[in-house]
Amino acid sequence: MIIRERPSPNHDARPEAGRIDMLVLHYTGMKTAAEAIDRLCDPAAKVSAHYVIDEDGTVWRLVADGPRAWHAGVSFWQGTENVNAVSIGIELVNPGHEWGYRAFPEAQMASLETLAQSLLQRYAIPPDRVVGHSDVAPLRKQDPGELFDWPRLARMGIGLWPTEPAPPPADIAAAQAMLAGIGYRVPGSGLLDGETRQVLVAFQRRFRPSRVDGGLDAETAACLAAAERAVSALRAGRKS
Ligand SMILES: [Zn+2]
Repeated sequence: MIIRERPSPNHDARPEAGRIDMLVLHYTGMKTAAEAIDRLCDPAAKVSAHYVIDEDGTVWRLVADGPRAWHAGVSFWQGTENVNAVSIGIELVNPGHEWGYRAFPEAQMASLETLAQSLLQRYAIPPDRVVGHSDVAPLRKQDPGELFDWPRLARMGIGLWPTEPAPPPADIAAAQAMLAGIGYRVPGSGLLDGETRQVLVAFQRRFRPSRVDGGLDAETAACLAAAERAVSALRAGRKS
């Protein structure tokens, strides 16, 4: 795969040098690729990503894997507060929900698969730590969004797409515990409060994209249980 270099100054050292165990996928959410890349390289913007993949499949490297790129902002996953510290960030060019959200083209997805597979080989990134930006910042972010084809990536061994059913949560508190078990930061209120709904929206974008409404319908509950079972099996395997 040909990777074009377009260095961004927006990076610093990882607090734990060499620790890379998450992959975060984004969309750029700007009108054009050029506009997005300019911003990701603008020192005043203070944002970046390790890679940008254009809709025609072109891969740009903005930051080497070693340093910390500034892509996820305030974020949380499985107890990790600063996701940038331990992750690689990939931006997919797409206008996003603000400027005309559209499907991710075949050439772009093919490049993403190749790049992600090489990163997964190089670093110890488990399937449950390949996430969308909205998973780690559900109150602020929508990307890469419900048009992103997670099942396709999972078929290539990238990320999680649970297929084994599990008993659905009996109530809201149980659903919140399952969301937390997967990795989300969620209130433990036992109520379908506004924050919990936003986390459910993020969950649906990732695992049940056909309807993204923040409700706990039967299908969402079933997907939630299946995802929690798959993640807890992976996490238990890592601890032992
Ligand atoms: Zn993002």
